[in-house]
Amino acid sequence: DVTVLRLGHRPGRDERMTTHVGLTARALGADRVVMAGSARDRTDTIVDITERFGGPMAVETTEEPKGFIRNFEGTVVHLTMYGEPIQDVEADVREAHAEGPLLLVVGAEKVPFEVYERADFNVGVTNQPHSEVASLAVFLDRLFEGRELDREWEDPDRVVVPMETGKRVVDPDERAE
Ligand code: SAM
Repeated sequence: DVTVLRLGHRPGRDERMTTHVGLTARALGADRVVMAGSARDRTDTIVDITERFGGPMAVETTEEPKGFIRNFEGTVVHLTMYGEPIQDVEADVREAHAEGPLLLVVGAEKVPFEVYERADFNVGVTNQPHSEVASLAVFLDRLFEGRELDREWEDPDRVVVPMETGKRVVDPDERAE
């Protein structure tokens, strides 16, 4: 069970980034996304995509992200360029995840020091500054060792039929025929 917590965003700059955190979390195997601070009003697209393309994907908000992290019953991973290299800690994180739920925290602006302290793992996907969406994608792929690419979707209204050329999106009942 994997929850992604988005710690707010910079209004006017990060709206699509927050949506992409949610969509990437969903597509690559997380079960729940929790939006905090100004990111709280960016849930619509993720809910809409989940309704059309399937779940499970819970979309929630919190007004108390620090409390949410502090009280999380499970392993807390904070994605940060200052953290330990993912290739050094991924096996330990997978082991912890085998034991119970995982909370994955991604920032936007400066992340409060309490988050670094509470995190069981501060993980860098390289120690270079880049993007929460990119670090989330690489992290989830390492966590699930590629299995997330074969994820099954529950109750989709729309299913993409992969093809070499062209686009085909069908009703799942149509696909079964
Ligand atoms: N300057 C901010 C700070 O001091 O925390 C970070 C800004 S960065 C645009 C936004 C988020 O992307 C970070 O909070 C982190 O979650 C993620 N991020 C950026 N680069 C990363 C990296 N190399 N490894 C892991 N996460 C990264």
